[in-house]
Amino acid sequence: MSKVQGRLRIAVQKSGRLAERSLDLVRDAGLRVMKGANDLLYRVENYPIDLLRVRDDDIPTFVADGVCDLGVVGENVLEEARNGGPQAEILMPLGFGKCTLKVATPPSLDYAGPASLEDRRIATSYPRILKRWLESRGVSADIVTMRGAVEVAPRLKLAHAICDLVSTGATLEANGLIAQETVFDSQAVLIRSPQAPEPELQHLLDSIIERMSGVVASQGAKYVMLNAPRAALDRITALLPGAGSPTVMPLSGRDDAVAVHAVCQEAVFWETLEKLKAEGASAILVLPIEKMM
Ligand code: ATP
Ligand code: MG
Repeated sequence: MSKVQGRLRIAVQKSGRLAERSLDLVRDAGLRVMKGANDLLYRVENYPIDLLRVRDDDIPTFVADGVCDLGVVGENVLEEARNGGPQAEILMPLGFGKCTLKVATPPSLDYAGPASLEDRRIATSYPRILKRWLESRGVSADIVTMRGAVEVAPRLKLAHAICDLVSTGATLEANGLIAQETVFDSQAVLIRSPQAPEPELQHLLDSIIERMSGVVASQGAKYVMLNAPRAALDRITALLPGAGSPTVMPLSGRDDAVAVHAVCQEAVFWETLEKLKAEGASAILVLPIEKMM
C-alpha cells in the first residue's frame, strides 16, 4: 500500500477492544471523521488526514514502514512486532486498553517460580515477548503459538501453561487457571513513523500530536473551586490530588477566607471532598475539563 500525496494517515484498529477509544481520541483532537464508502479508509473532513482502519497486528508495520504517520495500538502488539528493523516510536501512553501479559498455570502444575516452566509447553499468542522473558529468567521451554483460545490449551492437553493477556482475570478464573507471573504490562500507545511526512504536512502532524497529548492530559483531570479559611489553606491545598500550585484569590468582604482554584490531574473522590469539608472548605465545585494545552 502506498501513500496518497498531500495527506497524513493515522492507523487505528478497525474493530475490537481499542477501536472505539481510538476513534474518540481522534475526534477529541478536533478531527471530523467521515465514514467513507470504503470501510478501510475514513476521511477527515476538516484536515488532509485519512484514518486507515485495520487489524491491530498490522499497525506496527504500517507505521514503521511509513505507510501511516501515526498509529494507535496496544504496546503488547508493538513489542511483539519488534524485529530489529526500523521501529515506530512510542509518543505517549494513552491511558486505555490496559492489560497485562501473564503466565498462568492449571492447579495440576506445582508452580514454584519460573524454573517450574523448564521443559514445559507454554501456549501463547505472544511468542516473541514470551521467548525474551523466558531467556531473561534463564528458562528453556517449548512455546506453542496459538492465534486465539489460548486459555483452553491446558484443558485440551495442548500445553502445560499459558501466557496470555489478562485485564480482570475473569477468563483465567473461568478456565481454572492461576496467574503466576507478569511478563508485560500494556496499554494503548500513540506511535509515530520513523519516516518524516512530506514537509508541508509536518506542521499538521506536530499539531495533531500536541492536541492528542492535551486530550490525554485532560482525561480524568478536574477543575476544583472552593472557599477555604486562611488558617487551613495549607492543609486544604495538600488534600487536592495531583494539583500544582493552586490559584488563591481574595473573597470580597472577607479577611478570614480565600477562594482556591486548582487543576487536579487525578480523580477527585467523594472521600477527598469530605476531608476538604472537614478542614473547613465550603462551596466546593468539581468541574470537568474539556481541553487542555
Ligand atoms: P484484531 O482483529 O484487530 O486483530 P484482536 O482480536 O487482535 O483484534 P482485541 O481483542 O480487540 O485484539 O484486543 C486489542 C488490544 O486490546 C490488545 O492487543 C490489548 O492491547 C488490549 N486489551 C485490553 N484488555 C485486554 C484483554 N482483556 N484481553 C485482550 N486484549 C486486551
Ligand atoms: Mg490482532
